[in-house]
Amino acid sequence: MPSKSFNPVSLIRKKRDGKSLNESEIDFLIDSYTSDDLPDYQMSAFLMACFLNGLNDNEAAALTRSMLHSGIVLDLSDVPGVKVDKHSTGGVGDKLSLILAPIVASCGVPVPMISGRGLGHTGGTLDKLESIPGFTVDISLDRYKQILKNENMVLAGQTEEIAPADKRLYSLRDVTATVESIPLIAGSIMSKKLAEGIDALVLDVKFGSGAFMKKQEDALRLAETLVGIGEQFGKETIAYLTNMEQPLGNAVGNWLEVKESIDGLKGDGPDDVMEITHLLAGTMIYLGKKASTIDEGIEKSKASVDDGSAIAKWMDIVKAHGGDTSVIEDPSTYPSAKIITSVKAKKSGYITEMDAFAMGMVSLELGAGRRRKEDDIDPAAGFVLHKKVGDSVEENETLATLHTNNDAVISDCKDGMLKAITLSENKPGKQKQITHRVDKDGIHDFKS
Ligand code: URA
Repeated sequence: MPSKSFNPVSLIRKKRDGKSLNESEIDFLIDSYTSDDLPDYQMSAFLMACFLNGLNDNEAAALTRSMLHSGIVLDLSDVPGVKVDKHSTGGVGDKLSLILAPIVASCGVPVPMISGRGLGHTGGTLDKLESIPGFTVDISLDRYKQILKNENMVLAGQTEEIAPADKRLYSLRDVTATVESIPLIAGSIMSKKLAEGIDALVLDVKFGSGAFMKKQEDALRLAETLVGIGEQFGKETIAYLTNMEQPLGNAVGNWLEVKESIDGLKGDGPDDVMEITHLLAGTMIYLGKKASTIDEGIEKSKASVDDGSAIAKWMDIVKAHGGDTSVIEDPSTYPSAKIITSVKAKKSGYITEMDAFAMGMVSLELGAGRRRKEDDIDPAAGFVLHKKVGDSVEENETLATLHTNNDAVISDCKDGMLKAITLSENKPGKQKQITHRVDKDGIHDFKS
């Protein structure tokens, strides 16, 4: 229970009227809600007041602290080294964690990674990992620490003990139209990340049709808020703004993305995927004190792919989580979807747009995603793009290959894919993939 008691109606009114709350007032609301002393209707009113009037930096930090301390904070002090994690705000085809975690671990930086599942049009790291036969992400905290100590990295799902207040608040925000609030999103993300026991954090904040934040300026504000909270908690935090207008890489869908990440770890990943991977990995290696600059970290990241240590680390980690390494050694032995069918261009031209959100929805329809939390997913479902924005296409040329075990959805998915791709006569300009870096010194334009 909170140490000090308040009248919840007065606190809601205060926030409604645009005033700010202090730490003990925020603690009172979060603690009372988590212990069932504050009903959903009062918390809903408070969340809407936060949504409409925003939270200042101190309020956002206080909210994060309350949610963080609603559960346990892992103590990883007996694991040697500077522990660094990465968090992405989510997108379509975002398999970067699967490539960068083994890279960073193989460079000597411990990576404790607690990830989420896919929901809606976006994929989730846990679902991708579970597409590997035998791979388990539901492990005890003791086993979590043991794998981290043995392998220098670990991949797991959020347990009931980590930031339980966020879990309850997120479900309430979901049904009260209060998800899309920058301080609420920032508090939610950072409370979970800080509970992992990390020393430093790299953030991939995405903008564009396939991202949570559609507008670049909103993503920039989210990045600033996330970095501000990280720094307030004494964790060095660096964020990058990256473009999610089109899917990342060529593969979308759980096993298909694992396969593409194996290509990346073996030095054969798509350029867009590898550019962001090496930047984020290089930054983690720098924050983990195994490189004196980010550029040196990037060189180390590339070297670990070239000399085979990153893929060797991946094999070790798959084994440690009970996964079948034979499909990693030879991905062609993985049982593919029953139906693999091409989407062909109706006319010639240049691809000027690939709507990542619409394509994420196609992937969901093919069986790779969930409409509701309790839905099953098909690990083999998804699609592979044969063309990306800027490529030229001839009439009848293959744009994408759909993979599914559900023949009832094929016609709609083909239509959905064609609608998501815009063709025109003129070649579009190149889209910048990484636009900004945000750190404790502020916002910097990113020069690649
Ligand atoms: N991801 C989170 O973890 N929380 C949010 O509020 C939004 C995205």
